[in-house]
This record gives sequence, C-alpha cells and structure tokens, in this order.
Amino acid sequence: MLIDSHAHLDDSRFNDDREAVLQRAWDAGVRKILTIGNGGGPDEMGCGVPIAESHDWIYTSAGIHPHDASKVEERHYGVMEQLAGHHRVLAIGETGLDYYYDNSPRDIQREVFRRQLALAKERDLPVIIHTRDADEDTIALIKMEMPSRGVVHCFTSGNKLADFVLDIGFYISFSGIVTFPKAEALVEIARRVSGDRILVETDCPYLAPIPHRGRRNEPSFVCDTARFIAEVRGIPRDEFATQTSANFDRLFTVKSA
Ligand SMILES: [Zn+2]
Ligand SMILES: [Zn+2]
Repeated sequence: MLIDSHAHLDDSRFNDDREAVLQRAWDAGVRKILTIGNGGGPDEMGCGVPIAESHDWIYTSAGIHPHDASKVEERHYGVMEQLAGHHRVLAIGETGLDYYYDNSPRDIQREVFRRQLALAKERDLPVIIHTRDADEDTIALIKMEMPSRGVVHCFTSGNKLADFVLDIGFYISFSGIVTFPKAEALVEIARRVSGDRILVETDCPYLAPIPHRGRRNEPSFVCDTARFIAEVRGIPRDEFATQTSANFDRLFTVKSA
C-alpha cells in the first residue's frame, strides 16, 4: 500500500481520463491520495472537494499557491475558513513562497503565506508548504506563526531547511525530482530523514519520475519514486510503504463525517 501525499487531480490534463488514471493508481497499490484544492487561483479554491466526495480514498486541502498570492482578496480567507471545516478537507495548502518564479511580489507572497499558517494553527490543521529559493523567509515565517504540524512538499531545499522542519516535528515529502540525475544532494537528504517523518508524492501532472520523465505524471507513478527511495535507504519496499503510510495517517488526521 502506498499513498500519494500530493496530487493535482483537478488539472485539466486529467479531464479526458480521470477515472482511468485513478483506476491505474488503485491497481498499482495506491490506497490514498491527497489532491490539492487550490485550483488555478483563489476563485477555484475547493476544487478538490467534488473528487474527494465521490471517492472515499481521496482527500483534499484548501489553500492559495504563492504564484497566485497577488490575486487574493480578503473574502478568499473566508472561503478558506469555511473549507477548513469540511470533513474531506484535511489540510491548509499548498501555500508558501516561490522566489524562483516570483509570479507574485514577495511581500504579498509572505503575507498570504503568513495568513494561511495562522489559519492552520488556529484550526489545528496540518499545513502543506511549497518553497522554492526562499528557505530563509520560509523558516522565519514558520517560526513567527508556529502551526502545530506540517509538511514541506516536493522537497528541493537544502540541509538547513531540512534540519529546521525535522526539528520542529514537521514532515518532508519527496517527489519524482529525487529520481532525476544530478539530484545527489537531495538523495542524501532522502537517505537521512528519519523513517517517521518521510512522505512520497507525485505532484502530478508535473514532474513524472524516471522512467516516465517528460510524460504526464499520475498517482500510480508514486510507486517508482517510492521504490527509488527505499533502495537509497536500503530497506525493503514494503517497509518503506508501511512507514510512509503511517506517517501520512499521523499527519493528515481523517475527520469523522
Ligand atoms: Zn508545490
Ligand atoms: Zn502541488
């Protein structure tokens, strides 16, 4: 059993064959998926709810991506608060800072991130963090609000951020990027993260792992990333699957209906 801790099943690239994609994931042994509920911007927040309501093994989140921070109006936080109370919404995010693309001004990214950290803390929900080229500010903002639990998804940062998030009890989730050539530093982190703090994800439809690189990614491919990391860590695949599944269940507590 494997869990894809971060997918974008709402993406239009799945419009023609979404159910077939989910069936392939199930057949490959994927038993839970967390589909991110951000959509293409704050007006589409909650887009994961219909998928999560119609599949009992799929859960979702509510958040605003740093790319879309400049589109946020105050009312969107009200929508997020309401979604936070939905029984299929298990987390706030993805939210964070992306100084690589800088699609929104950095000061606005920081404020929108801070508000979501504060909401996660207030509701005692885990926060799903996206961070790129912004390790220092990510650490500073987490320290400022200190939500009780969270995960840095699609981890590509360095040792300092890894050590910080592990120190405060957060989790680290690896995507297919870890399977790419030249990912040695990342592989080193995937080797040393303790077994009770590691997760795997696809971040599909982006970032298909080797041997699917360049194709549309989908949840069944989480098996390839998991196999790669299990090998790096020198443990059987089954053991790694059991660990990451237990970690997911501990971090993303399923709500009663
Ligand atoms: Zn992301
Ligand atoms: Zn994502």
